[in-house]
Amino acid sequence: MQYHAVLKKMKTELNDEVQYYLDVENDFLNLNQLLDKEIEFSFEGYQCLCCGKEKKIFRQGFCYECFYKSAAVGDWIMKPELSTAHLGIEDRDLEFEQGVQLKPHIVYLALSSNVKVGVTRKTQIPTRWIDQGATKAIEIVEVPNRYLAGITEVALKDHVADKTSWQKMLKNEVSDADLIEEREKLKSFIPEEAQDYFLANNGKITEMNYPVLKYPTKIKTLNLEKAHVYSGKLKGIKGQYLLFEDNTVFNVRNSEGYKVIITIK
Ligand SMILES: [Zn+2]
Repeated sequence: MQYHAVLKKMKTELNDEVQYYLDVENDFLNLNQLLDKEIEFSFEGYQCLCCGKEKKIFRQGFCYECFYKSAAVGDWIMKPELSTAHLGIEDRDLEFEQGVQLKPHIVYLALSSNVKVGVTRKTQIPTRWIDQGATKAIEIVEVPNRYLAGITEVALKDHVADKTSWQKMLKNEVSDADLIEEREKLKSFIPEEAQDYFLANNGKITEMNYPVLKYPTKIKTLNLEKAHVYSGKLKGIKGQYLLFEDNTVFNVRNSEGYKVIITIK
C-alpha cells in the first residue's frame, strides 16, 4: 500500500494504549496497526502548512515568510508569560491572540524522563502530554488566561525542570518520582495572582501507555530531508516519534510540511 501525505503531527487518542493517526491524502492511517510492519518514507519536497506553497520549510511546518508573519507562531506560544491579549495589546493579530490566550489554561507536572512543569490550553489535555511522551501527568492550576499560566510556570521553574531528555523518554528511562508529592512541594511557590486557581480537589494522575514493542537502546535520528528515503520495521510510537527496529527514531512533528510517499510493505 502506498500513500501520499504532507506530514503533520500525529493525532492521538488516550485509550488503554494511546492510539496514533496520521493524515494522508484522502484517508488516515491508524499507526498502531502498522507495528511490526516494514514502512518506507520517501521525501518528495515541501508544502508550507500555512500558505500551501511548495517552499522550503523553516520551522513548525511553516516556510520562512509564514513563520515570521503568522499569528499562530508568535513568541508567546513558546513563552506564555509574554502573552498580552488580556491587556488588549496585539502581538501579530489581536483577534486571533484573544481567541487562544483568553481561554482556560492548565499548568501541569508531567513525567517523561524527569519531572517537568509545563503549560497548555485546557482543551489540549491530554494531547499535549502524549505529544511529549509523558507516562504520567497531574494538573496544578487552572487559570483563565495564558499570561497567568506563563507567570506560574516561570515561578515554578526555579524549583522543578521545564525540560526533559527526549533521548531518555524514547529509551523509557523514566524517574519514579511521586507527582502528588511533587505537586504538594510546589504549591507554596505559585505566584499570588494564581494561588486561588490551585486545583485543590484535582490531584488525579493521568497515566499514558504507549504502543511500543521494543524501545531503542542507542538512538539514531532520521532526518528525512537529508536521507530522502528510509525504510525500517516499526517497533513503537511514543510522543511524536516513530521507533524502528534498527534504533532509528523519526520525529514526525519536526518533519511537518514535508511531502512524502509512505509505502507499507
Ligand atoms: Zn508559507
